[in-house]
Amino acid sequence: MDIIKLLPDAVANQIAAGEVIQRPASAVKELLENAIDAGADTIKLIIKDAGKTLIQVIDNGSGMSDTDARMSFERHATSKLQNADDLFNIRTKGFRGEALASIAAIAQVTLSTRRYDDEIGTEIVIEGSDVKSQQAVATPAGTTFSVRQLFFNTPARRNFLKSNAQEMRHVLEEFMRVAIPHFNIAFSLFHDNTEVFQVKAANLRQRICNLLGANYNERLVPVEEETSIVKIFGFIGKPEHAKKVRGEQYFFINNRFVRDGFLNHAVNNGYEGLIPKDAHPSYFIFIEVNPASIDVNIHPTKTQIKFEDERSVYAIIRSAVKRALGKFSVAPSLDFEHSTTFDLPLSQLQQQPKQPQISINPDYNPFKTTTDFNPRHNVESSTHKINFEQWQALQQQIETGAQQINSSSQNALYTNQNCFQVLNKYIVFVHTMGLVMVNQQAAHERVLFENNKAAFQNKTNSSQQSLFPQTMQLTAENFVIMQELESDLKQLGFDLNVFGKDTYLVHGIPTWATKGSEVTLLESILEQFKMNSKSFRLELRNNLAKSMARAASIKVGTALSDAEMKSLLTDLFQSNLPNDGIYGGKIFTLLQADELDKLV
Ligand code: ADP
Ligand code: MG
Repeated sequence: MDIIKLLPDAVANQIAAGEVIQRPASAVKELLENAIDAGADTIKLIIKDAGKTLIQVIDNGSGMSDTDARMSFERHATSKLQNADDLFNIRTKGFRGEALASIAAIAQVTLSTRRYDDEIGTEIVIEGSDVKSQQAVATPAGTTFSVRQLFFNTPARRNFLKSNAQEMRHVLEEFMRVAIPHFNIAFSLFHDNTEVFQVKAANLRQRICNLLGANYNERLVPVEEETSIVKIFGFIGKPEHAKKVRGEQYFFINNRFVRDGFLNHAVNNGYEGLIPKDAHPSYFIFIEVNPASIDVNIHPTKTQIKFEDERSVYAIIRSAVKRALGKFSVAPSLDFEHSTTFDLPLSQLQQQPKQPQISINPDYNPFKTTTDFNPRHNVESSTHKINFEQWQALQQQIETGAQQINSSSQNALYTNQNCFQVLNKYIVFVHTMGLVMVNQQAAHERVLFENNKAAFQNKTNSSQQSLFPQTMQLTAENFVIMQELESDLKQLGFDLNVFGKDTYLVHGIPTWATKGSEVTLLESILEQFKMNSKSFRLELRNNLAKSMARAASIKVGTALSDAEMKSLLTDLFQSNLPNDGIYGGKIFTLLQADELDKLV
């Protein structure tokens, strides 16, 4: 008996849909791109429940005939490719003819469309690839797609969706990726009946400022470079505005957003020596190339790209960035002349990467009566090299040693002794067993973290009211995060509420925070929160407690009064884990007699 059957279309579409539509944001991207391909100059995006309930895109583009409207939902149905050769000259966003078929397979879709010259339009209702109706309707010229109940027939996928706040962040990100490069098109975005964006046709600089905030205007430096292979234009952020969190980084190739580590590396390289190693510059860089010289087809969601001549593109981008920074005298003038050659970086800007080396004191025994189990200390204090296995074994010993000491009474180390500050970084005090050195920032982070945890448990908070409420203007992304965190921030002692579409009013802050710095504090909490969510898998409150502790902590370099040091030490040594840095690492070290003997 033969057992092979062809999958029914609806099933095949559902499977294919998984590739194209992972979450509401993917549908948003496809629908916006279709509207742009249709030549619209005004596009409205309406979202309900972060797109889980409704995604609606209204455009004033070409519209479709009755037959095309029906055809548009077929798999591999596209008006954008006629033959295989066209594949190498793609100027449109779409060309695979898969998006609408995929969306229709996993949602309830209504399409209303009319061409400008037609008297009457057409409306199609389709659910799970099943056409429910098609009828003539009066509708404005252009096209409206309404996508309801995404994943209604694939519950596993629906359950896989994240919180509304998280899904909305993805939607916003897709919206930005489309709205930034198409600055000559007017866009609006409404979420749950609230206007999030309403931007008119403008130039690129204005568009960036309209979307990200007027304060971007003075942060941007224009980039421009034209060579035989590529044309580059756009803006990059001044080095002093580089952030710890990878934020506004946009690359567009032929107006299509791409994310590419290689291109990003080229830009960062152009900033070399001007920003800290862990900082990320903002950029909005457009590259125009002959479509035949790139392959946009290598990734199904098309955010990666392959250049024919990668090395040259890298060098051109890097030097365009350097040149732009140099021209606006934010950097010393650099190799202007060699914009397309593979010149070596200027030595004073280039720190040659060093071969990583691990060195260790072979005599070190963590089970000796010492509490110095800080691996860093040993790494630096000796020059013997060890191999990886030895290193691992040692790590293990160190951890066991740490546990032993943890269980002993390290909380009793500080009993209000005199103390003093070294290098505005360490607080040092004397104990009968030796000398204790405490990292002030790590200590304060632990103390604040414990306070925050307690605040979440006690359901009480202590807030101090400001005389005048502070207004806090946020980017759309940060606004969504603030909404997500609002109730927990209140729990921690912040008193705040939404005020307008992208603004919060801050009325009060936790009692321990410094007045006047409300907005800065909240901004650094948000920044840290984003950074933590990218690097660790933290539960939301845990992340917030940590972010706030980092943002509000006494930083290295801060001089402390005697009273401040004493109260910090008292709090630290009353906490449960006085020697566990909340981001890892140790908080203090006890140098005992034998350790001290080695030193002098
Ligand atoms: P692709 O964009 O890859 O061609 P889609 O499935 O996204 O595939 O769309 C299929 C076809 O439907 C498009 O080629 C286009 O002809 C038509 N279409 C889709 N959206 C619109 C729109 N907003 N306005 C006019 N035509 C559209
Ligand atoms: Mg498309």
